[in-house]
Amino acid sequence: MAPTPLMDYRGVASRSYSCAQVVEEALTRAKASDDLNAFVEIFDTSARAQAARVDAQLAEGKTLPLAGMVVAIKDNLCYKGHRVTAGSKILSGFESLFSATAVERLINAGAVILGRTNCDEFAMGSSSETSFYGPVKNPLDTTKVPGGSSGGSAAVVAAGLCHVALGSDTGGSIRQPAAFTGIVGMKPTYGRISRHGLIAYASSFDQIGPFTHSLEDAALVTQIMAGSDGFDSTCSSRPAPALRAAAPTEKKKFGFFRPTLEHPGLDPEIKEGLLRLFDALRSEGHTVDALDFPYLDQLVPLYYILTTAEASANLARFDGVRFGHRTAEPVDNLEDLMKGSRSEGFGIEVQRRILLGTFVLSSGYYDAYFGKAQKARRVIRDHALDLLQTYDGLLSPTSPHTAFALGRKETDPTVMYLEDVFTVHANITGFPALSLPGGLHSNGLPYGIHITTGPWEEEALFALSATVQNTLKGITA
Ligand code: GLN
Repeated sequence: MAPTPLMDYRGVASRSYSCAQVVEEALTRAKASDDLNAFVEIFDTSARAQAARVDAQLAEGKTLPLAGMVVAIKDNLCYKGHRVTAGSKILSGFESLFSATAVERLINAGAVILGRTNCDEFAMGSSSETSFYGPVKNPLDTTKVPGGSSGGSAAVVAAGLCHVALGSDTGGSIRQPAAFTGIVGMKPTYGRISRHGLIAYASSFDQIGPFTHSLEDAALVTQIMAGSDGFDSTCSSRPAPALRAAAPTEKKKFGFFRPTLEHPGLDPEIKEGLLRLFDALRSEGHTVDALDFPYLDQLVPLYYILTTAEASANLARFDGVRFGHRTAEPVDNLEDLMKGSRSEGFGIEVQRRILLGTFVLSSGYYDAYFGKAQKARRVIRDHALDLLQTYDGLLSPTSPHTAFALGRKETDPTVMYLEDVFTVHANITGFPALSLPGGLHSNGLPYGIHITTGPWEEEALFALSATVQNTLKGITA
């Protein structure tokens, strides 16, 4: 059953109630939802202080576009003076020295940060089960996973504990959990939002993005976080566009990759739902074409070569010397100190990926794996760029199925890796993509519709998403 939503944050700007009231309500709800294991920590004191500041600013007549918006942040986003651990023992006790640019921009716009959310360790996973803090439960059915790696962020929004949550998406970690919990999840174009203050997993793939109930909120929050930042040289200096989630009147051209709908792992009901959507879009005058796509089977292997390589380099900094966990075992040299601290501090999935990444980068194998995967990445991006000259957007399911049972896939990493089959394309290309609730499966759980546009086309992505949402309403009404 869908939980009742938190009181509307817009009531704060219109002075129907105070920001403090909304924050108290959110704190009460968050504390009563401990069983979900979605929050790692609730920031009571700073949330109350921020609420008081927002109320004071409004009383002075200041306009704050996000006044009263209660936001949770994934436990891999830095927030000055607060702990951050990326779901890992290795960062236990570590406190952020600065705030992520994305977090700071939300606070400056009047949002209140309620707490940090549980996630797969270092954002590696698709079920939020690899966290040092234990698994997150799906609020729609607590025997199921909420998806991952940003499962805690998805769960707190879906459960009505917050208006918005931030996640990070390296291969699908915002979009897949959004699909599993029946909400909106958006990954902007690579470089649209600064990654400053995001604990890196795979730096050429990672993007920060929002979980929301509505397209409007996703557009608003993305617009506020977007735009150049001197702290991140990969963040684009293009001006942040004014984003709205209004459906355009003109007819659009959609494409879908034929092999995604023929994928053997795709749940037949989700396939049927998509075909129904395509028919409805066509009957409204839009075009929906089946497109050849010869690379579907290459996407996941390519993703895991490149992301583990980048992760092995990024995670080298966690050495037991500079931050977090240090082994208490007696050691007589630096190497043993690092080995001991890393073996104790990193969980099994993170260790597996560091080993894999080190292997694909090693001198005898570099060309065969890493170099080749880089070239394949270019081919896939060029192919998609070319298609998006003709098509406004690409449609697919977000995930091949609905949320699965806790513990079901945790033991087999390759089964878990296939979770990303429909979402990694947007990270390989760097294009923006969004998951929208597509409907309910007969098992009672939601599934997502996935929409991608060309790079820097967030405006078009929100417009197309609004078109698809309207069409979906027509089918389910
Ligand atoms: N499931 C993917 C992985 O484990 C994606 C994770 C993510 O987007 N952070 O790498």
